Amino acid sequence: LCVAQDDFDFFYFVQQWPASYCDTKRSCCYPTTGKPAEDFSIHGLWPNRNDGSWPSNCKKDSSFDESEVSDLIRRMEKDWPSLSCPSSDGVRFWTHEWEKHGTCSLLNQRQYFQTALDLKQKSNLLQVLNDAGISPGDFYSLKSIKDAIEKGVGYTPFVDCNVDQSHNHQLYQVYLCVDSSSLDFIECPVFPHGGGCGSRIEFPSFSSSSHDEF
Ligand code: 5GP
Ligand code: 5GP
Ligand code: 5GP
Repeated sequence: LCVAQDDFDFFYFVQQWPASYCDTKRSCCYPTTGKPAEDFSIHGLWPNRNDGSWPSNCKKDSSFDESEVSDLIRRMEKDWPSLSCPSSDGVRFWTHEWEKHGTCSLLNQRQYFQTALDLKQKSNLLQVLNDAGISPGDFYSLKSIKDAIEKGVGYTPFVDCNVDQSHNHQLYQVYLCVDSSSLDFIECPVFPHGGGCGSRIEFPSFSSSSHDEF
């Protein structure tokens, strides 16, 4: 019996809230392409198995090739910026995501990045939250955030929280699940293990994060 090591059942599509990446003890560095807009941005599109495990680094000889996505770079700079330090143009982050997760996706590089960009647009998370009266700069319950996303996107998200420098739990990442063949949202077969949220969650505004480095 031959069991492939790189098989998977679905994707996690993970979006991050930049202000919550930046206002932690670790801080952040704005991309060389400029301070990101106050919007969710893409962390990654991650193949995952129903038992919670996941394949990674499936093709050791495939490295990110900017020329294959040259027509997507503008959108990637806007919707998939890298906030880690030192400041970068995103290529290091995209390379990491492609090599670790993308090479296991059965998609080519163009399809992988295009799919993620389209899923961000389709989920329209910030608008969906705004429509439910949830906007940056205030505190909300986990349930109200999850209910708003479920209503707006149509599927139950997993919400991952981190902690800011004042020890507030805050909305950090939103996981949605994606069918491996239709590349459309589905209910999650299994939820990830993420940072606990508690009952009162900050949805911080970018402008209030005062510890950004340049
Ligand atoms: P962290 O420990 O910060 O949650 O995750 C570190 C890295 O492990 C992530 O950037 C991601 O690459 C990978 N990872 C964490 N949790 C999951 C998961 O549930 N599924 C998959 N496919 N990758 C994960
Ligand atoms: P993962 O392995 O969890 O998919 O991705 C996390 C890796 O990407 C870490 O090495 C992290 O330093 C790097 N990285 C670069 N820019 C970002 C960013 O904007 N957000 C996150 N979460 N990780 C980033
Ligand atoms: P239940 O799913 O039974 O409502 O919640 C079980 C536990 O998981 C509760 O402590 C609840 O706060 C937590 N929980 C439910 N959904 C999420 C989520 O999306 N993110 C996080 N971090 N915790 C969750």
